[in-house]
Amino acid sequence: MLNITIQKTTTPAAKPAPGANLGFGHIFTDHMFIMDYTEGKGWHDPRIVPFQRLSLSPAAMVFHYGQAMFEGMKAYPGKNGSAYIFRPDMNAKRANKSNERLCIPYLPEEDFIQAVEALVRVDRDWIPTGEGESLYLRPFIIATDEFLGVAPSKTYLFMVIASPSGAYYASGLNPVGIWIEDEYVRAVRGGMGFAKTGGNYAASLIGQVKAHDEGFAQVLWLDGVERKYIEEVGSMNIFFKIAGKIVTPMLNGSILPGVTRDSVIQLCKHWNMPVEEKRISVDELLEAQHSGALEEVFGTGTAAVISPVGKLRYGDEVMTINGGGIGPVTQKLYDTITGIQLGRLEDPLGWRVEIK
Ligand SMILES: *Cc1c(COP(=O)(O)O)cnc(C)c1O
Repeated sequence: MLNITIQKTTTPAAKPAPGANLGFGHIFTDHMFIMDYTEGKGWHDPRIVPFQRLSLSPAAMVFHYGQAMFEGMKAYPGKNGSAYIFRPDMNAKRANKSNERLCIPYLPEEDFIQAVEALVRVDRDWIPTGEGESLYLRPFIIATDEFLGVAPSKTYLFMVIASPSGAYYASGLNPVGIWIEDEYVRAVRGGMGFAKTGGNYAASLIGQVKAHDEGFAQVLWLDGVERKYIEEVGSMNIFFKIAGKIVTPMLNGSILPGVTRDSVIQLCKHWNMPVEEKRISVDELLEAQHSGALEEVFGTGTAAVISPVGKLRYGDEVMTINGGGIGPVTQKLYDTITGIQLGRLEDPLGWRVEIK
């Protein structure tokens, strides 16, 4: 158990008015969680303090070599002043997978969860209550040694900040267009594609800009070696419904193991719906589309939950999926997962955690 000290702000900010367009990641709550790590001492001084700027040396290692990791979660309003979060144990475990890959010290999973829950409790009134809105939570760790040598840092900061965020799709669930990228790659096997770390995003920006310039919302990355097998979308995992079966690329080290991805697989199994994790080539996808077997495509991730894909571009071909509409399984998964998260549906797999 962490002994978290809490220093509340004396100048609380005005909360966004109900109905205001929150967008994503622009607004921050009154407080943040912060804890130090020092070699030999371990994690220490866990505290919640007013949201504030950090003071770091320009030589802090994170600025130079990118030794950093992050997580992404959401809190929803619960009953009687409580809050709900979704499968925090999965984020805490994944955080340590990222930490291990990046030579960041282990952070006990119960401490990670306790930090997140403590911040949600303090800033509970910042959880927006409009349809599709939530309090986005961003736990992260950065290397802080003042040193320009290349080595794992000996000091770190673990922080959690929170941002009231709007519905991912302002006009409701909307199919997006996706660009299958065949020039740049995001990650390679043996690299850090499975870790949630800024470097993977830095590598992906150029593809994202290219896709936007071409009028597509997101990039679908192919494997880094043969550029032939489907990996994942910018900040989402990807699923296909082919001839009645749900398929998704198997985890191979260069794909981020999404909590939403795992939830979709488990729900399909719970519903006795055929689901398979396997290697999927872009040729197989094109064939499925040409034979009419490609029925639905959707992305999965904490921010959008389920994101229907209406259009996929590869080379000269633009594939329209399901007539550009939302498929029935896509819709059912969205309704079920968000229903569980918001406390509107039964939670058969025990995923919702109430913070009192
Ligand atoms: C976070 C993330 C996802 C989605 O993971 P969730 O746990 O479902 O939010 C997918 N791909 C990448 C690259 C990510 O960073």
